[in-house]
Amino acid sequence: MSYVNMGNARFDDQKAVMQKILESGDCPFCPENLAKYHHGKVLREGNSWILTFNQWPREHAKYHLLLILKEHAVSLAELSQEASNEFFDHMRWAERRFMVRGGLLFMRFGETEYSGASVNHLHAQFIVPDKEAPNFEPVRFKVG
Ligand SMILES: [Zn+2]
Repeated sequence: MSYVNMGNARFDDQKAVMQKILESGDCPFCPENLAKYHHGKVLREGNSWILTFNQWPREHAKYHLLLILKEHAVSLAELSQEASNEFFDHMRWAERRFMVRGGLLFMRFGETEYSGASVNHLHAQFIVPDKEAPNFEPVRFKVG
């Protein structure tokens, strides 16, 4: 069982880190491994989630945050009611903290061949487009 999907990596340095993860057999988003592979600044931590900057933010994103579940899970059915509630608490906090006028919030789940996730551990993405930048282009995501 592999915790990363190389086919969904976007950058060469990301591929190099993922190759290391693949060889280690670690899940890079499980709490005991997170600090080893993730160097984005942690903004907030609750009982169930860690809110952090994505270390590989999308081009044309003003803010690209990751919300990483603090226990290993891959399907939505594994989320507790408490974790579900805390999820939106963090997202509301981020909306206020960054004074967001609009953005995208999504979570890939289940098998990575379908979800397009690079890491097979529940995590959500919070993206605010950098609309005011002169060279702005819409930020796009794919699934499947
Ligand atoms: Zn995990």
